[in-house]
Amino acid sequence: MQTGKIGVTSENLFPIIKKFLYSDHDIFLREIVSNAVDATQKLKTLAYKGEYNGEMSNAKVEVKLNKNAKTITVSDNGIGMTAEEIEKYINQIAFSGANEFLEKYKDDANAIIGHFGLGFYSSFMVSGRVEIITKSHKEGSKAVKWSCEGNPEFSLDEVEKDSVGTDVVMHINKDSKEFLEEHKIEEILEKYCKFLPIPVIFGKKKEWKDKKYVDTDEDKQINETEPAWTKKPADLKDEDYKTFYRRLYPMAEEPLFNIHLNVDYPFNLTGILYFPKIKNNFEVQKNKIQLYCNQVFVTDSVEGIVPEFLTLLHGVLDSPDIPLNVSRSYLQGDSNVKKISSHINKKVADRLTHIFKDNRKDFEKKWDDLKIFIEYGMLTEEKFYDRAMNFFMLKNTDGEYFTFEEYEKLITDNQTDKDNNLVYLYTSNTVEQYTFIEAAKSKGYDVIVLDDVMTPHLISKLEQKFNNKRFIRVDSDVVENLIRKDDTTRQELSWEEKQELSPVFKAVCPDNKSYSFIIDFHDLGENGMPMVITRNEFMRRMKDMSVAQGGMGFYGDLPENLNVVVNTAHQLVKNILEAKAETMGKELNKLGDEIKTCKTEVEILEKAKEDKKEEEIIQADIEKIDELNKKLSELEATKNEKLSSFGKENKLAKQLVDLALLANGMLKGADLDKFVKRSIELIK
Ligand code: ADP
Repeated sequence: MQTGKIGVTSENLFPIIKKFLYSDHDIFLREIVSNAVDATQKLKTLAYKGEYNGEMSNAKVEVKLNKNAKTITVSDNGIGMTAEEIEKYINQIAFSGANEFLEKYKDDANAIIGHFGLGFYSSFMVSGRVEIITKSHKEGSKAVKWSCEGNPEFSLDEVEKDSVGTDVVMHINKDSKEFLEEHKIEEILEKYCKFLPIPVIFGKKKEWKDKKYVDTDEDKQINETEPAWTKKPADLKDEDYKTFYRRLYPMAEEPLFNIHLNVDYPFNLTGILYFPKIKNNFEVQKNKIQLYCNQVFVTDSVEGIVPEFLTLLHGVLDSPDIPLNVSRSYLQGDSNVKKISSHINKKVADRLTHIFKDNRKDFEKKWDDLKIFIEYGMLTEEKFYDRAMNFFMLKNTDGEYFTFEEYEKLITDNQTDKDNNLVYLYTSNTVEQYTFIEAAKSKGYDVIVLDDVMTPHLISKLEQKFNNKRFIRVDSDVVENLIRKDDTTRQELSWEEKQELSPVFKAVCPDNKSYSFIIDFHDLGENGMPMVITRNEFMRRMKDMSVAQGGMGFYGDLPENLNVVVNTAHQLVKNILEAKAETMGKELNKLGDEIKTCKTEVEILEKAKEDKKEEEIIQADIEKIDELNKKLSELEATKNEKLSSFGKENKLAKQLVDLALLANGMLKGADLDKFVKRSIELIK
């Protein structure tokens, strides 16, 4: 028997393994199983080249759990190791600057393992003792058993072993009992090993017999050795891609389409990416892209490896060229990763372009499920934005789809305003904004539907890119003003009339903290609606943005301004004007006269004051002006009050405001109830 010291330059390798790798114990099995797979593949290669004549037809790796002995054994029939090779590959772990590195990456088990080539040694995270029983494929080799108890001492003995290959026996320590549970091992194998290229066996297939599951004689293979992405696209049918998708995400809805990646120069990358259906408010994606390295699962957090918007995709990427064992920040600077990332970016845009060109109908059909993804890409990746402008679909309220180019042709004639801006009218909700959409359509305008969470951001981006395009929501103004063609607006009411009418309608607007109502007057034609409620585009957008950004910033806190546009040409509005004149005409005139007199007096006194030098102004005059001003505001207040109470009493005014609110889906609860009752009364 030979004993010796493992050639590490640092004595504290084992404490380090146990301490720093604590967070991610599961990977020990991945490391040991993938070593076994490697060894088996190597021997297969040698056999293929004729350098090994032994039996290779039943190449496999077996994982065995022995609960009584508290061991997990991983056996392979791979190349095995001679005593010298054990010395070289297992005992001599050379590393330098260990402590410094460990300190830096102490939370990143992958980084530590990769850096030190500690794959095999990760078994000590869960084992009190590890044995390697191995027989090299080389002719005349003697089997040896290496044994080590998690300290720098090891022993090496000659043993009997019939077949070529290696058994790694891990004696699971007290703290790691969970790994002696079959389901736990199954779970780890399913996660990391399900696509390894050599069959991995764990236990026997079970069958239902005498009301319980019992083992059969058949081995249970946990992996699929030739997953779809390793095959040639030409050898796969549509159904094969779907089947593979279900294997990856058994619970997911069917994907829209897929991309098969296959590059071998200047970097190595294979994989299949799927476009999933993304719902409007895309919740955190449960199904993530899985990253593999030569069919060994590494991680499903691919941030930093693919552009952020592509993390919405599903599927697998496999590349030995992605440095997996480094920190995320390093990853982003790596030139291979950059190349891979922009390659994927380009492929995704290519694929979408192709589908768009080859099968536009299909593309349109899938657009609603796809658009969030594309919009997100356009907002975050300039290159993708440029490509996407060719296949981005504008969908109008009639369900027709247009590219930007096509749409521009459609609306240029009718929707260019007086400043030569092309106006894109859009709706964010075809039901709530129905009346506005109809109004716009009746004017011959076209309305597009932009109704997802990305809309406000996308619109800003597009307006930045083109300084002669405007996006205006259909409910942001009365239809006459949506696209201003000339400066003349028909005015029917005088300033005074407006001032008198404003409090009347203000009085019947709901008292609500989150809205503030501004009364405005327009001639919308005698056949137009008597009253329309619009939302100022700018204020609304700012508010939408601050809500989308999660915080309630300055604009988020402001009450929303609603413009109540009164149609001065409408008969019902004229009726209210007449009623006002009838019931309070004299009173108003009297008040008006008093106000006028008061104003004139103030003006005269002010004028006189201006002509005098400072020392000549008499105190009495100043007092008089103050007094008059006070009287003036009292008179105005009285007038307003009278108008308000007239408004409150006027059922028609109330009814018109409620109708406008109703058209906006804003009349609810008690107000709606009152409205219904009032309506019935009016009809009676
Ligand atoms: P890595 O696999 O990253 O090289 P490991 O510590 O996992 O690092 O393994 C070190 C070396 O030990 C391997 O490169 C291989 O030569 C040898 N080895 C490990 N496991 C086996 C095995 N099951 N059969 C043959 N050789 C093995």
